Amino acid sequence: AEAKEEYTKANPRSYAQHLRAAEVMPGGNTRTVIFTDPFPLTLVAGKDARVCSLDGNWYRDFLGEYTAGFYGHSNPILREAVMQALEQGWSMGGHTEAEAEMAHLIRERFPSMEFLRFANSGTEANLYAIQTARAVTGRNKIVVFEGAYHGGVFVFSGASRHPLTAPFDFVLAPYNDPEAVAALIDQHAGEIAAVIVEPMQGSGGCIPASKEFLKFLRDWTTRTGAVLIFDEVMTSRLAFGGLQSLHGIRPDMTTLGKYLGGGFSFGAFGGKQEIMGRFNPLGPNSISHAGTFNNNIFTMTAGSAGMKHVLTEALLSEVTARGEKLRQRLNDIASRSELPMTFTGRGSMMNVHMTRAVVNSVRDLKASHIPLRDLFYFDLLKQGFWIAKRGMINLCIPTTEADCDALVQAVEQFVKERTGLG
Ligand code: PLP
Repeated sequence: AEAKEEYTKANPRSYAQHLRAAEVMPGGNTRTVIFTDPFPLTLVAGKDARVCSLDGNWYRDFLGEYTAGFYGHSNPILREAVMQALEQGWSMGGHTEAEAEMAHLIRERFPSMEFLRFANSGTEANLYAIQTARAVTGRNKIVVFEGAYHGGVFVFSGASRHPLTAPFDFVLAPYNDPEAVAALIDQHAGEIAAVIVEPMQGSGGCIPASKEFLKFLRDWTTRTGAVLIFDEVMTSRLAFGGLQSLHGIRPDMTTLGKYLGGGFSFGAFGGKQEIMGRFNPLGPNSISHAGTFNNNIFTMTAGSAGMKHVLTEALLSEVTARGEKLRQRLNDIASRSELPMTFTGRGSMMNVHMTRAVVNSVRDLKASHIPLRDLFYFDLLKQGFWIAKRGMINLCIPTTEADCDALVQAVEQFVKERTGLG
């Protein structure tokens, strides 16, 4: 309560803006994840790895728009690409060179996407991937995992109290537990159209899947004729070819989103030719896929420019290594402290959990100390860090070693002030 009161006093303009927004949007908000009790800060500017609030405070941005902001803010190369697109015109209602270019670039990085199509968000990409799997298998059930988040209508993480869920026939299985999954899904084998999995759960708390678990899913789906979908909407930033390349496991379908659209609305789904080929309008039994903005020129040009001119494989490795080192340093602080605290994740994505448990699934988070995690958020904000309320911390390309050092110091300060709680 004290932290919230201080927050309200420190951010009067954001508070006033929230009241104005709340006149027309329930909770003053159009993205539940961004809502923060008592009100979210309003952001007005971003530069490199910093964002600025309406109250004039600059923060080191360790949220990175929930991974979509990987390029950082106002990247000049992306900006130039978008300005050029603006000059030439947009929403023309036809095929553009930019979309084919973007599709080629994606397939070069993710060869399992032999054919792909675009959508407007990761949520849409997953909707299409699931519907595609149902269409090609003629089956109904979809296996999803506890803690999963595949978009606004695919919430299995317990983070939202009453999520709106797409009306599919889901089988909810435990994450990272091949034996328990087999016991649950073997009985439905002939009815399962798809198994959809994040190779590291993102919203669920940056919990990596073990290679053994992913391999089990690959073998099981091959054996039963179900479609294995890797949702790499967040994890495509963890290795140049996504986590599928790192694990050497080729899914039947992959969904992408977030930063690959250069910071604009983006989703893509793709996979084996024999599956995705069904979208060819000239083919037999063709299925259709529409969407006015699927090929919008801003996403296609910014996304291509990012892949061609900004993100090299070497740069991605550098950011990944910086993230690994940061998580290690934060875990060193956690293990020296008396607080129940651990940082899970991989590379440039991590999440603080206020527990001493080893976290392999959301089941291991049952005893975590949520008020302490809330304090972590408010304390870090006060020290000038923009992270997710639920404890997610992401690096972006412009994040420097000095930014990481500053975050380490801020977490040390948090530990000093809050030891005794928890
Ligand atoms: N899939 C995963 C793994 C995600 O983390 C998200 C968003 O956080 C989505 C899908 C949905 O993407 P979007 O927010 O673009 O709809």
